[in-house]
Amino acid sequence: MLNIARNLEQVYSNMRAACEKSERNFSDIKLVAVTKTQDADKISELVRLGVKDIGENRVQEMVEKHILIDTSVNWHMIGHLQTNKVKNIIDKTSLIHSVDSYKLIKEIDKQAKLHEKIMEILVEINIAGEESKYGIEPGMLNAFLEEVAGFENIMVKGLMCMAPNVENPEENRLYFRKMRQMFIDSGNFTANNINMKYLSMGMTNDYEIAIEEGANIIRVGTGIFGPRS
Ligand SMILES: *Cc1c(COP(=O)(O)O)cnc(C)c1O
Repeated sequence: MLNIARNLEQVYSNMRAACEKSERNFSDIKLVAVTKTQDADKISELVRLGVKDIGENRVQEMVEKHILIDTSVNWHMIGHLQTNKVKNIIDKTSLIHSVDSYKLIKEIDKQAKLHEKIMEILVEINIAGEESKYGIEPGMLNAFLEEVAGFENIMVKGLMCMAPNVENPEENRLYFRKMRQMFIDSGNFTANNINMKYLSMGMTNDYEIAIEEGANIIRVGTGIFGPRS
């Protein structure tokens, strides 16, 4: 448990250094602690340490842990989401980071309506065009936003990406820069349900670079908990 506290302090300290380097405010950046494969006790420890944003990539894990944890936590769905599982998390998550298809949008809108809620989502971009990654092609973003614009129970809050798994995080700087430009450009898109506020990018290996390039949500797992077994 001590390790978690110490690691968290280290992450905050790295975040501060990246902010200083890029003249940004530490308070403008949200840390989502990625708790996939970690048990509820560890999540509770994080919550005691003041963490308010928890990220899970599997529906089943979010459902199981959600009931065990303090209700003041915001649950972020960060992993690929199957259409038939939207109903299981619609009332549990405050932000879905991984929206990448029209079919998924349609289902989220439908389930959100049933729960009388406006579901906030991010559009996932496959920024490096990797076979192994989900997300829409960068060139398709405008067409995608046009399709989304009609849905009443969806609020698009920004963009998300997973950069390539690289040895040297500097290699991802150009992708983060590209994301930031898309984020700015899409801010010009006018629709009632599009309000570009969040740019979710950067994980343990590269969150400092992501912050320098404009991320305002970072998603960190290993950096807090150590390697996943
Ligand atoms: C696992 C995961 C993370 C965190 O990865 P770490 O390298 O452990 O920090 C971030 N985002 C997504 C979508 C993930 O699945």
